[in-house]
Amino acid sequence: MRLQDKVAVVTGAASGIGKEIATVYAREGARVVIADLNAEAATTAKELDPSGERAMGVAMDVTNEQQVDAGIQQVIDRWNRLDVLVSNAGIQIVAPVVEFEFAKWQKMLAIHLDGAFLTTRAALRQMYRQNSGSVIYMGSVHSKEASVLKAPYVTAKHGLLGLAKVVAKEGAAHGVRANVICPGFVRTPLVEKQIPEQSRELGISEEDVIKKVMLKETVDGEFTTVADVAETALFLAAFPTNALTGQSIVVSHGWCMN
Ligand code: NAD
Repeated sequence: MRLQDKVAVVTGAASGIGKEIATVYAREGARVVIADLNAEAATTAKELDPSGERAMGVAMDVTNEQQVDAGIQQVIDRWNRLDVLVSNAGIQIVAPVVEFEFAKWQKMLAIHLDGAFLTTRAALRQMYRQNSGSVIYMGSVHSKEASVLKAPYVTAKHGLLGLAKVVAKEGAAHGVRANVICPGFVRTPLVEKQIPEQSRELGISEEDVIKKVMLKETVDGEFTTVADVAETALFLAAFPTNALTGQSIVVSHGWCMN
């Protein structure tokens, strides 16, 4: 058990990558907090641990300062510590820059960047008190590369690298490290929704979106899986020293090698 009794908050953990990370963390002995919108959080926590002893759902919109602060406080009130924050909640909206609606741009940056900042700030307050902690951001290959139609996503995912580096520097004196995971395409609801959207926008078949857009640059034409990403999140959470901080790890079947 590599996370025995650690307390881990995973945002966006009611689905996809976040859900798998919460599942793996629970398997490794952690007490996990499913932080997601509305009732989905409680439902997923119940699935993970029907007894409710080692998993709790916390409803929060990561863009809402009060909800984030109150949600993290709920965790501290219950378990009196916070060892791992995985800032993972995210959405995707695709359109060319020239047509991108400002409100949609703002929504994207709010979820990916404001959400990362607000959850980090709330978590650091406790991590600094206990003098330890690991903050993990869900970046993307789009933290390092660009694709058409994804301006706010690419902008936000690049931004997370900057935030992680600052948190790594400021957190060092308090025993806190910060790192970024950069996955390639993973077949979660977020990606399933993009396949027909990109097919329409680019005027190609859905099969070609997968082969010629999403997996074109991989070394083997394979999707990354939620298990691949969760394994990396476990490695970062369980890393035994503060040597590994301010880094980004790309898990993408070789799509990106930076
Ligand atoms: P998903 O749609 O399966 O899950 C995202 C979760 O985030 C959902 O449960 C949703 O309710 C939650 N969420 C959305 N907005 C929220 C908000 N404002 N507050 C709280 N929760 C909110 O998507 P996923 O593919 O698992 O994506 C998770 C993260 O991984 C995202 O940050 C995404 O950008 C990143 N990522 C995904 C891929 C991929 O190919 N799927 C690749 C690289 C990075």
